[in-house]
Amino acid sequence: MSVGIRYDWQKEEIQAIYNTPLLELIYQAASTHRQYHDPTKIQVCKLISIKTGGCPEDCSYCAQSSRYKTEVTPQALLEKETVVSIAQQAKANGVSRVCMGAAWREVRDNSQFEHVLAMVKEVTALGLEVCCTLGMLTEAQAQRLSDAGLYAYNHNLDTSQDYYSTIITTRTYDDRLNTINNVRQTNVTVCSGGILGLGESVDDRLAMLQTLATLRPHPESVPINILSQVSGTPLEDQPDVPIWDVIRMIATTRLVIPAADVRLSAGRARLSQVEQALCFLVGANSIFSSDDGHMLTVTTPCPGYSADQEMLNLLGLETRPPFEGAKKVDREVVLG
Ligand code: SAM
Ligand code: SF4
Repeated sequence: MSVGIRYDWQKEEIQAIYNTPLLELIYQAASTHRQYHDPTKIQVCKLISIKTGGCPEDCSYCAQSSRYKTEVTPQALLEKETVVSIAQQAKANGVSRVCMGAAWREVRDNSQFEHVLAMVKEVTALGLEVCCTLGMLTEAQAQRLSDAGLYAYNHNLDTSQDYYSTIITTRTYDDRLNTINNVRQTNVTVCSGGILGLGESVDDRLAMLQTLATLRPHPESVPINILSQVSGTPLEDQPDVPIWDVIRMIATTRLVIPAADVRLSAGRARLSQVEQALCFLVGANSIFSSDDGHMLTVTTPCPGYSADQEMLNLLGLETRPPFEGAKKVDREVVLG
């Protein structure tokens, strides 16, 4: 079986893949994974929250929104030296991609942006892939990040267009797609995915996947987050997502966006090694790891470097060096 890259996915086709008998789906996804990726390699990423909390947006899942009373204490933008030293330590622990996140609605053309550009330059100079997730971005700002050497920009769709306004009211799906399009006009690669467990239906998850799978070119990176319930947010009491939903979603992502890196991101901390192994088998090829046990914010847990290294050793997986990930598929054709 050989799966090609397509941009015309219909919702019914994606539903049929998702509903394939489970072991057959696992087999197909694992086969496609091997067709496009080295199945012995996993990319380890480190998220650095360069500006934590106090965000004006109302994303119902997020510990960093100023609308909700959570355990997060807002912090000013980190010093460049602090970020570089965290990145150096991460590199020494097998990390090949550093993602710098800021709890901003959008990037503003001010001294803080200059500061972030300087961080991007210095962390890139360490030989690491640098990704930023800073909220909405204009094309000119995306170009400046590109000029600073940025490798990837993360901007998640999070859920379907229909369900979006149930989760976030302070921006629209089109705002999200516009930023992704602005990034696409530059050399920076696109990282965009979603969250499972916001109270959405399986149809919503597949509609989001259809939006991602019909972007041309496809995002080079697709994070699949599992909601990490945060006390004080409107979604604090959401039930855990069943593991087979996670496996089906990763497998379906692998089959419809075959060349992308699929990142098993937030929520991994509650999965057993066996569950994670299945995620890797069906196509997840990246994890976030950390020395301090925290990932997106102080309330979103993430396994530690040594526990992850042990797991990778156990599974016979190696860490992937920087710049060996998904390439820009069909990019030349699109940018003409
Ligand atoms: N403010 C920026 C933005 O929203 O684009 C970037 C920061 S935000 C931490 C990046 C992503 O983390 C979100 O799009 C969401 O998918 C994920 N995320 C945040 N809180 C989460 C939670 N409690 N559980 C799972 N994923 C979460
Ligand atoms: Fe702000 Fe991003 Fe959290 Fe939304 S997900 S509240 S934009 S930090």
